[in-house]
Amino acid sequence: GVDARGPRPDIAARRRTVMSRALSLAYAEPLHIVRGEGAYLFDAEGRRFLDLVNNVAHVGHCHPRVVEAGARQMALLNTNTRYLHASVVDYARRLAATLPDPLHVCFFVNSGSEANDLALRLARAHTGRDEVAVLDHAYHGHLSSTIELSPYKAPPSRSRVTPLWELPEVDRPAAFFAEPILGCAGQVVPPPGYLERAFEVVREAGGLCVIDEVQTGFGRVGEHFWAFELGGVVPDIVTMGKPIGNGHPLGAVVTTPEVADSFLTGMEYFNTFGGNPVSAGIGLAVLDVIADERLQAHARAMGDRLLAGMPHARGHGLFLGVQLDSRAEAARVKEALKARGILISTDGPNEDVLKIKPPLAISAEDCDFFLSALADVL
Ligand code: PMP
Repeated sequence: GVDARGPRPDIAARRRTVMSRALSLAYAEPLHIVRGEGAYLFDAEGRRFLDLVNNVAHVGHCHPRVVEAGARQMALLNTNTRYLHASVVDYARRLAATLPDPLHVCFFVNSGSEANDLALRLARAHTGRDEVAVLDHAYHGHLSSTIELSPYKAPPSRSRVTPLWELPEVDRPAAFFAEPILGCAGQVVPPPGYLERAFEVVREAGGLCVIDEVQTGFGRVGEHFWAFELGGVVPDIVTMGKPIGNGHPLGAVVTTPEVADSFLTGMEYFNTFGGNPVSAGIGLAVLDVIADERLQAHARAMGDRLLAGMPHARGHGLFLGVQLDSRAEAARVKEALKARGILISTDGPNEDVLKIKPPLAISAEDCDFFLSALADVL
């Protein structure tokens, strides 16, 4: 019943008729982005924006090697994982090689939410328990199960919320879920030793420790490939999403053989799209580009450069936050940066934190351009 052919300037109006307003648009004057390249986005009028928001386009928007890997495999075969296919096995081995022992059994899914849902099922199957502890202000996904792990916008009723930085209070927990640096909470870094102590408490009570690397993984934090390594811990389960496929819907859960085997109870795990040859090819290309372009070291160098220019910022590598005085100030800074050709997001319980998490393709000149624009705007 809707005319599908309306003129382009009507996108916002037409969108309101066929899409839920619960999915809000960024900016007072929404952007119409038509192309991406490296750390840049281009709108319909040809204006160029430096993208400091998109940690999904991890190795750069539309990276040619990732695009080529996906296109080539799509033209050849895309099917599920019930046939033998070398690339998903190669990919699992390559992914496992980035993690400490004994984390090397991979499950492939299609999003971060799905990865956390599967981690929850694994933890419950492994422990035979139900209860889960999470950190306050955490976000672990939009599924009915993962919203229950996410005190981000509303207190969940089915998990124990641990105030920052208290130790999880649990009797007989299935699991403790934590982001190694909290993203939606406003780029909040745990104090030194926190994760180690929290893991001890949870493990003493017989629970599993799940680390959500959906925002922080794949070299973004610079010093390490995984952000949990900053905390000196080895989790029982690691969940991955966003950057893993550079924009292609892909997610993963990596765990120990012992935890993975708790699924061998006759209830099979099958996921129609998870780990298909196209996703595996893309995931492999992303890992290749991170290694070949030395993006982890680059994230560290660019992060240090940004931190040197923003002494009050917090975070690691290219996962940084700047605490401002109010929600109104954060909103003003975001709009003013947009007017200067820079896209940045705001988040946190009071929506007063600027979040800096660009594609790792960002250059030193881009960093300096942002720093001078920010100084100007502030
Ligand atoms: N975990 C974290 C830490 C996230 O930030 C997000 C998404 N913002 C998710 C999980 C859910 O990922 P997705 O939206 O891909 O389902």
